[in-house]
Amino acid sequence: MFLTISTTGTPERPATDLGFLLHKHPEKVQAFSTAHGTAHVFYPEASAERCTAALLLEVDPVALVRRGKGKGRGGAPDAALAQYVNDRPYAASSLLSVAMSTVFKSALRGVCAALPGRAGEPLPLRVEVPAVAARGGVELVRALFAPLGWTSVEAEPIALDEQFPAWGDSRYVRLVLEGELRLADALRQLYVLLPVMDDAKHYWVATDEVDKLLRAGEGWLADHPEQKLITSRYLSRRWGLTRQAMERLELVRLAETDDLAVEEVDNAVDETADTEERPVPLAEQRREAILAALRDAGAQRVLDLGCGQGQLVQALLKDVRFTEIVGVDVSVRALTVAGRRLRLDRLGERQASRVTLMQGSLTYTDKRLAGYDAAVLSEVIEHLDLPRLPALEYAVFGAARPRTVLVTTPNVEYNVRWETLPAGHARHGDHRFEWTREEFRAWADSVAGRHGYTVRFVPVGPDDPEVGPPTQMAVFETAAADGATTTTTTTTATEHESPKEATAA
Ligand code: SAH
Repeated sequence: MFLTISTTGTPERPATDLGFLLHKHPEKVQAFSTAHGTAHVFYPEASAERCTAALLLEVDPVALVRRGKGKGRGGAPDAALAQYVNDRPYAASSLLSVAMSTVFKSALRGVCAALPGRAGEPLPLRVEVPAVAARGGVELVRALFAPLGWTSVEAEPIALDEQFPAWGDSRYVRLVLEGELRLADALRQLYVLLPVMDDAKHYWVATDEVDKLLRAGEGWLADHPEQKLITSRYLSRRWGLTRQAMERLELVRLAETDDLAVEEVDNAVDETADTEERPVPLAEQRREAILAALRDAGAQRVLDLGCGQGQLVQALLKDVRFTEIVGVDVSVRALTVAGRRLRLDRLGERQASRVTLMQGSLTYTDKRLAGYDAAVLSEVIEHLDLPRLPALEYAVFGAARPRTVLVTTPNVEYNVRWETLPAGHARHGDHRFEWTREEFRAWADSVAGRHGYTVRFVPVGPDDPEVGPPTQMAVFETAAADGATTTTTTTTATEHESPKEATAA
């Protein structure tokens, strides 16, 4: 069984970077022994323009039977023969998936010390699997891959026997995927979906398979329309495990969409604040700080990236200076709630024309996001796994490039001030990380440096003399002399700044 992954490149961004990302050198032919045979990795082509890596798994059918611990023994004679003569050596299946997890372990995790930036960026990819068993046929294959960001999903049925077309198609297809995806995402999708298409696992499915599924499914499975089928097939229809997985996916989705937990803790803090009046919830203070920074920047056309349930969009809509407001979120459910909150169906035409809600993932470049004055990422970055952050960075600061970008995130130092928060706990179950002021500054400074922005930092909420404010906000402005406002006070000079700007500052 066989799988190829190809990419294209330029002299500056050579296609052979694929070798680094896969941790496999393009000039070598390597073999790895796996439980069911030998996996070979080699590159049929490797130039700056085009590079293809091939994974070939040479299955040892005898070992497969032995490992199967005599499953089906004592049946009819042809059943015994079927143990040796079957499709396993030829059609991609869970065996290939297991080989991928051994051979491309780091690549699956999106880890690449040599090219950390590249690992986080989408690449032009073409994946071909010449034969994969597909129970459910071409339609199922399309339904599985089409929602995952591929621009082209080609699944071509393979005839049972080319000599006898009347016999019809076999249950095998040739699969070709094309699109701009992060390599790790593509590998993780294949890792899960190859056995799902085949619907027959070669090993006993145990409880830790749920963890494996959720890890590999991160970022795409929680919102996949075929989630139930994928989960149940991946877990070999073990209903207990399937239910467990579905419940956990639901939690992931709720955590992504529902910021209730954040509000609760934020409110708890404000109760302990020593204000006489009704305390202003932190979420509200954050929105005020964002609105003030947007007004300062003179922004009119604004993106709210990771808009959640639309509270900020609603606030923006109340101020006529914001002529175009776009809320983007990966979660359809959050957008539905946002739509209801904004009463989009009842807004007058003029008001309605100012606002758009759209579904999209911030870890992919998106042409629709180009050309805006400002973008807000309010309490969003901490919901991404750290290895995915470079992808978001590139999509926002590299591709969309609004003049102003506001990023807010919790200041973890402040957590000790919250009596209701147990020590060492994040503020929200779905926070993948929470940063100190220094960590946030280091990240923001390097982002600004890489993309030609200046950055300054603004505290949100009470600025505690020891631990700082509960929320930290970074205000990025393009450093290029293309009409960017220069209201910054403590700007950090960046290496990409034009010499003229640097001396003027
Ligand atoms: N900005 C809002 C919501 C923050 S909660 C506020 O300040 O209250 C984080 C939001 O980011 C969630 O709605 C979640 O669905 C969204 N999100 C997380 N990862 C995302 C991604 N990769 N692309 C787009 N949105 C994402």
